[in-house]
Amino acid sequence: MLIAIGESRRLLRRLTYTFAATRSYSVLSSKMTHQFPSLSTEQKKELATIAQRIVAPGKGILAADESVGTMGKRLQKINVENTEENRRCFRDLLFSVNPSIANSIGGVIFFHETLYQKSDKGVPFPQLIKEKGIVVGIKVDKGTAGLNGTDGETTTQGLDGLSERCAQYKKDGCDFAKWRCVLKISDGCPSALAIAENANVLARYASICQQNGLVPIVEPEILPDGDHDLQRCQYVTEKVLAAVYKALSDHHVYLEGTLLKPNMVTAGHSCPKKYTPQEVAMATVTALRRTVPASVPGICFLSGGQSEEEASLNLNAINQTPLHRPWKLTFSYGRALQASALAAWQGKPGNKQAGQEAFVIRAKINGLASKGEYQPSGQADQAATQSLYTASYVY
Ligand code: 13P
Repeated sequence: MLIAIGESRRLLRRLTYTFAATRSYSVLSSKMTHQFPSLSTEQKKELATIAQRIVAPGKGILAADESVGTMGKRLQKINVENTEENRRCFRDLLFSVNPSIANSIGGVIFFHETLYQKSDKGVPFPQLIKEKGIVVGIKVDKGTAGLNGTDGETTTQGLDGLSERCAQYKKDGCDFAKWRCVLKISDGCPSALAIAENANVLARYASICQQNGLVPIVEPEILPDGDHDLQRCQYVTEKVLAAVYKALSDHHVYLEGTLLKPNMVTAGHSCPKKYTPQEVAMATVTALRRTVPASVPGICFLSGGQSEEEASLNLNAINQTPLHRPWKLTFSYGRALQASALAAWQGKPGNKQAGQEAFVIRAKINGLASKGEYQPSGQADQAATQSLYTASYVY
């Protein structure tokens, strides 16, 4: 008798538990149901198509969105004054190259000023780029701002009025956008606050872009400043990217209609130990595989102060790693696509063609590297092997 009572109590307890579990699951699932879809099927299709065009096989991005100040520093190196006309001339050199550039460049990122400038022949720059079959993008962030009470860490500003600006840029021919957040590595950095704040602002930006038909490039750049080793950079990169993808999910961002622009995993600029492209590639792909969902169509690395040749060799090694890579791994280089072109141009109209030839060479090499097919001749010229590092880089 006593045994029978004990048995039935146990049964009752189990039934109560199962019922409660089912009930709380159904409450949870009804709350979690996607009752308020943020994008229509057509909007998603448009975004996914744009993203895939940009990272089609063998293609990457030319980041030509340097702010007026950053462009000034580039021009200063070749003793050219930082005027609107000189900035236009250099962008004209890049944008009016032979249309075959579209075999290796899928997208160009513009700075606001450049979007409304014209070529030497009077063609609006966005039109010139689109006629080559290249997608036009725009930098929409408004630079960094300090996070008070941290060791000089920052967030990125520009959310106010962003939706209206995105709508206007879409009308003016843009199909994707870029927003750069910056994190740094030191004993205490990045702080939990910097990771959370930058992940959230990137997700909010991405959501606003998608509502306006722009594919957001999500850029959480971890600076190469410091003497940390490769493993520390890999650890920090994983933590930052994991936070970014959690925030993108929280903000209902449609991942198939996004692109990621991360740093490669490299040792700090002052690290005494040097690593091979194969070591950089393995650390980079391992970090990405642990954190970036397979639904993201493309990962377009920034060059982050690497020399042109180093950035190409590392990208090539990344595309040769013996690990499964579900996304396109390609480039979105600023400095590492323009340094040789700037050096050849020197601000002289007579050097325009030489500048264009230098740009085409780097674009072709990076296109090959994005497929793991670059075979270096060992004869990269001086400009291509020079470090392009600047401490605490501002874009
Ligand atoms: P670099 O390739 O020069 O690092 O710049 C790319 C970029 O767009 C940074 O936001």
